[in-house]
Amino acid sequence: MGISLADSNRLAPLRDRTPSVTTLCSHSSLQIFHGARAEGFPTLGLAVGTPPRFYDAFPLARPDRFLTVPRVKDLSGVTDQLRDVGAILIPHGSFVEYLGPEAFAALDVPVFGNRAVLGWESDRRKEREWLESAGVSMPKRFEDPSEVDGPVIVKYYGAKGGKGFFLAKNREALGDFHPTGPHVIQEYVLGTRYYMHFFYSPLSDRGYRVGHGSLELLGMDRRDEANIDELYKLGAQEELLKAGIRPTFVVTGNVPVILRESLLPKAFEVGARIIERSIELFGGMVGPFCVEGIMTEELEFKVFEISTRIVAGTNLFISGSPYSDLVAPGLSTGRRIAQEIHRARAEGRLGEVLS
Ligand code: AMP
Repeated sequence: MGISLADSNRLAPLRDRTPSVTTLCSHSSLQIFHGARAEGFPTLGLAVGTPPRFYDAFPLARPDRFLTVPRVKDLSGVTDQLRDVGAILIPHGSFVEYLGPEAFAALDVPVFGNRAVLGWESDRRKEREWLESAGVSMPKRFEDPSEVDGPVIVKYYGAKGGKGFFLAKNREALGDFHPTGPHVIQEYVLGTRYYMHFFYSPLSDRGYRVGHGSLELLGMDRRDEANIDELYKLGAQEELLKAGIRPTFVVTGNVPVILRESLLPKAFEVGARIIERSIELFGGMVGPFCVEGIMTEELEFKVFEISTRIVAGTNLFISGSPYSDLVAPGLSTGRRIAQEIHRARAEGRLGEVLS
């Protein structure tokens, strides 16, 4: 099936019309291709420049074919070819971020999931409107520094990897705050972080019923973040600042976690509310999403972020997680996506899972 690099930009249409599961070669693509292949789909990797060599090291996850473009934004110019090979695009964090949410949403190629969600995820104000109106607890937001009544995190919009975020212990420490751009001042929640990997199937009529379908929990992780994770060993913030060290939240990896079993009802309640509200607001979020929050010592879960697509933390669970193994043995989120496409095709309901 593989084609050489030289002709990688001339994809011959596949003879049968089995759709090609397609994504950008990055982030969680190994898992997506691996899962698609296990479900019998042809796979297509989109690469910038040349196909990454590391795929050669992972034969079970290497896409059948590659399509290369000089720059990510050139993907907008190959949509005819993508449609010709029956591509179904699987969004992931890098795919959406490198192309930009608007350009991604404008691609004239079928996308797994409801692309309307991208507009709600990429705008922090809209995201808050969605989650709060769903009844989900979020960190308090301060309109003005004078209202600050405890530790806060200041987030500049578009700060990559939390570079440009900063922490203040209290109003005093925030001092004469002179913002350098659009930002939010948010309660800094003390507790333990959990990143919960959910999957919403609008097709399923069994399991934990939400909306017309069902909600699955496929895994959970916590992100390793440099340099904040180890910063406490160096002592107090003021001293660190004097030394010119500012906290950053650059994700460098992920660790698996599980939640106390008695907290699972809370996890499902949060996931269900987010889905139910998404159905009312924009026709529903479909497929994988991640709820990112902090469990406080009062066992209240405060959500600071939602990712409305597969997250890289699911890469921990290519051969199953303590949760997904109870849905089906060895089930990854990538494979779950392929199963949903499979079922939708078999039932003539692709319109419910693609946009
Ligand atoms: P975000 O860009 O919103 O995903 O935040 C990046 C990181 O900052 C998170 O992974 C957390 O470690 C931390 N963080 C964000 N918001 C809060 C908050 N309200 N309280 C405590 N930590 C937070």
